[in-house]
Amino acid sequence: MREVRSLNATEQVSLCDAAGRVIAEDVAADRDYPPFDRSARDGFAIRAADLPGALRVIGEVRAGAMFDRAVAAGEAVEIMTGAPMPRGADAVVMVEHTRREGDRVIIERSVQAGDNFTPRGAEAERGKAILRAGSRIGFAQIAVLAMTGRERVTVYRRPRVAILSTGDEIVDLREQPREFEIRNSNAWSIAAQARSAGAIAEMLPIARDHHESTRELIARGFEADLLVISGGVSAGKYDIVERVLAEFGAQFFFDRVLIQPGQPAVFGRVREKFFFGLPGNPVSTLVTFELFARAAIEKLSGIEEPALPLTRAKLSRDFRHKTGLTRFLPARLSAEGSTIAPEPWQGSGDISAVARSNAFLVADSDRESWSAGEDIRVLIP
Ligand code: AMP
Ligand code: MG
Repeated sequence: MREVRSLNATEQVSLCDAAGRVIAEDVAADRDYPPFDRSARDGFAIRAADLPGALRVIGEVRAGAMFDRAVAAGEAVEIMTGAPMPRGADAVVMVEHTRREGDRVIIERSVQAGDNFTPRGAEAERGKAILRAGSRIGFAQIAVLAMTGRERVTVYRRPRVAILSTGDEIVDLREQPREFEIRNSNAWSIAAQARSAGAIAEMLPIARDHHESTRELIARGFEADLLVISGGVSAGKYDIVERVLAEFGAQFFFDRVLIQPGQPAVFGRVREKFFFGLPGNPVSTLVTFELFARAAIEKLSGIEEPALPLTRAKLSRDFRHKTGLTRFLPARLSAEGSTIAPEPWQGSGDISAVARSNAFLVADSDRESWSAGEDIRVLIP
C-alpha cells in the first residue's frame, strides 16, 4: 500500500472518545515521570551501606506525603509503595525482608543502592516525546494522555469508505431471497471490517451486473475517500467491474494476487481516490479486505506502518497444499495460542467455516507439506 498516504485532516476529540483513533500530534511529557524518586515497595528506605544491620526508624512516609528530614547513617524511614524517597536514602528494603523491634528495624540482608525505587525521570523525561503522531490510541496511550493531563487530543479524521456490492443474484438482507438469490452479506462484513480499521462505512445500493447500474454507483462511491467493491472482478461474462473502472480512467496497481482465496482482487486509483475490487465469494472478500484494504484504510487514517497480525503456531496434524499460491485457510488456534488445526471447509464461499474458526492458517506458496508439530504461519484477524 505504498501508494496510499494519510488524508492528513485532523480533529480534536475528548479523551473518552479517543480509544481506537490515530493520534495526530506528538505528546511530550509535561513533567518527569516519575516526578520524584518513587518507592516501588512497602518497606524501609535506608542507606545500602548500612546493611545488614539494625537501624533506628525515624518516621514514615506514605504515598501523597513528603518526608521532611534526611536519613542519616544508621537510620531508616518506613515507606509505602508510591511514596517519595526521603533525602539521604538510596534503596528500599521490602517489609517482608525486615523484622521490627520497637523503634528499630532488623535487616539481615544486603541491598544495592538503587534497589526498589524508580528514579525521577527514569520512565520519561520532561519535554521528551512520550507519544508520537501516527499510532493507534490504545488503552496504554489513553493512560499516558490522562497521566499528562490531556483531556482533549488531536487525532486524524476517519476516512469515509463507500461499500458497493455487485451481482444480479444479491438482495438486501431485509428482503426475502428467491431460490436462486443470495442475501448481501459482504457489505456487512466489509462495513464491520472498515469500522474496525478506523473508517466510517457507508453502504451504497447493490449494483446490478450491467453497465449503467455499475457505472452510476461507482461514480457515487468515488465521493468517499475509498471505494470497496465486492464481486464482479472474476473472469465471468458478467464480471464488468474492471471494465467500468477502466472507463473512469483507473490506474491499476494490481489486478490479480497470487493468493487463495482472493486471487482476482484488484487495487487502483481514479484520480486521487483509491478503490478495491474484492472477489465476491464471502471468504475471499473477508481475506482480501484483511490483507489489503485494512492497510489502505490505516494509511489513509494516518497510521505510518500498518502491520499484518501474523504469528506462528504448531500444526495439530499433517498438512499439505498445492504450491504456487499462498493460501489462507480457516483454522482453530488453541486457547493458549500454541497449536493450530485447519477447519474443514467447502472453499471460498464457506463463510460458516470461517465463523467457526478463530484464525487463518497461512500456507506459503513455495512449500507443499508440513508434518504435525511443525510451525506454520497464522493470521489472527
Ligand atoms: P463474483 O465475485 O461476483 O463472481 O461472486 C462470487 C460468488 O460470491 C458468487 O457465488 C456470488 O453469489 C457471491 N457473492 C457475490 N457478492 C456477494 C455478496 N455481496 N454477499 C454474499 N455473496 C456474494
Ligand atoms: Mg457477481
